[in-house]
Amino acid sequence: MIPVSQPYMFGNERKYVLNCIDTNWISSGGKYIKEFENKFESLIDAKYALTTSNGTASLHLALAAIGIKEGDEVIIPNLTFVSTANVIRYCNATPVLIDVKKNTACIDPTLIEKKISDRTKAIIPVHLYGNVADMQSIMNIAKRNNLFVIEDAAEAHGAMYKNEYVGTIGDVGCFSFFGNKIITTGEGGMCVTKNRELYDKMFLLKNHGMSPTERFYHSVIGFNYRMTNIQAAVGLAQVENFEKIISIRDQQYLKYFKRLSGVEGISFLESEPSTRSVNWMFSILIEDEFPLSRDETITYLEKMSIETRPFFKLMSKMPPYLDDLLYENSEELSNKGLNLPSSASLSDGDIEKICDIISGIQK
Ligand SMILES: *Cc1c(COP(=O)(O)O)cnc(C)c1O
Repeated sequence: MIPVSQPYMFGNERKYVLNCIDTNWISSGGKYIKEFENKFESLIDAKYALTTSNGTASLHLALAAIGIKEGDEVIIPNLTFVSTANVIRYCNATPVLIDVKKNTACIDPTLIEKKISDRTKAIIPVHLYGNVADMQSIMNIAKRNNLFVIEDAAEAHGAMYKNEYVGTIGDVGCFSFFGNKIITTGEGGMCVTKNRELYDKMFLLKNHGMSPTERFYHSVIGFNYRMTNIQAAVGLAQVENFEKIISIRDQQYLKYFKRLSGVEGISFLESEPSTRSVNWMFSILIEDEFPLSRDETITYLEKMSIETRPFFKLMSKMPPYLDDLLYENSEELSNKGLNLPSSASLSDGDIEKICDIISGIQK
């Protein structure tokens, strides 16, 4: 089976993890935490980076730090992974869903202002599948309406809007290092911000709200969202190989695109102008002209030992967030979208095989 995603661990991962064990620094103290944060900061030109236990915790921490509370509304795209919505509910606030742009699969800024009310406090754009949201329009809307912007960059490490890395444009950027993400720590996450006050708040909240200067004094109700030194050890080794991982993924994107762009019934997402997307998962859209439906294609490829995954289901279709408004583009993409195997450990031969099989599909 060719897996849809696989970690790429060919650097110092083993060496650094063994160092944690050999030195007894296996919990959330230890040198790799700071080293990983520092290296990540320099990688994406972030001012302050803070490790967390996972991407969802990063998003929750960001919302808690900007003070999202009961009665508040937070704007998100309808097409996303469920944690973007869940973290809003963790704060007893309400997610407000917005359709996405058909070509980029990211939130459509032209639809945002209609949904802003006096309860709206923040926008969470999601850089879906490594594609970059229209950050300039989003930042302008946020400024006009006095809203925070929390970037969900869980799928877009290294992507750029103009000359800025995603995650560093809004008030806080949130990353995930789950096993299938562009770089991984097994489970893990990171918050980045240029705002010292927000960094200090997130630092406090992630560690039980314990005063950094007075042990066992807790001024607020915090969480335990710490990353372990072992995870950070893997993370440091991963970021050491970051440029290589991104460039392998770029080449894979080009190979896929070249082979599949002539195939009738297959279309692709597009990048927003002036952005540099990253290839988290190579996405195709199965149009009506293709011999098989999207779901039939998934089943067929599985039989041919190729694991794929459908695009996310819409938040508006899930019991906690149900609504019956029409989100035309989100709906269409969710029904047509398919992610093909993408990871730096995938071989050229694997991609050839996948493309041969897809382009050979007949009715
Ligand atoms: C993976 C992901 C998350 C959550 O990250 P975890 O580390 O799995 O908690 C959040 N948002 C998006 C868009 C994701 O893809």
